[in-house]
Amino acid sequence: MHTQEVVCPGCGKPAIVNVIKNQVTSNPCQHCKKHIYVRADKNGEINYIGMSAPCFIATACVNAVGDEGSGEHELSVLRHYRDSYVQNLRDGKSILNEYYMVAPRIVTAINNRANTQEIFREIYTDYLVPAVKLIEAHENDSALTIYFKLIRMLEAKYLFKS
Ligand SMILES: [Zn+2]
Repeated sequence: MHTQEVVCPGCGKPAIVNVIKNQVTSNPCQHCKKHIYVRADKNGEINYIGMSAPCFIATACVNAVGDEGSGEHELSVLRHYRDSYVQNLRDGKSILNEYYMVAPRIVTAINNRANTQEIFREIYTDYLVPAVKLIEAHENDSALTIYFKLIRMLEAKYLFKS
């Protein structure tokens, strides 16, 4: 781990953040106190700075579905689910750390395929929409099961065999 000065996306002032290889860290800004999320690659180079933790796969899917704005609802449901439910599970931290390690690699692998948009649209329809419906019905456990199925499927299809 090392520390680095970045520009806070909340207030625009310089802030010191922790950088950990292959991980996302959450750092309170020294000026505005808002949380700055920083993701670093395997070399410790920062490749994401934002006010909310990155939601790689869902964001990619919503972009692929297009229709500006139509996926915003799903994204905010999933983000809230992650920050309020998954994070507080006994093994929530390790679930999220695994996600942050594997999700960017999956998105990169899919981006290298010829039918990228089609793949993301399929994930959106087959996994994200059903998961959002379950979360809205307070079926948090079942939504997590869908999430695990999705990640295992994506790993098998795009990481291990490529
Ligand atoms: Zn700030």
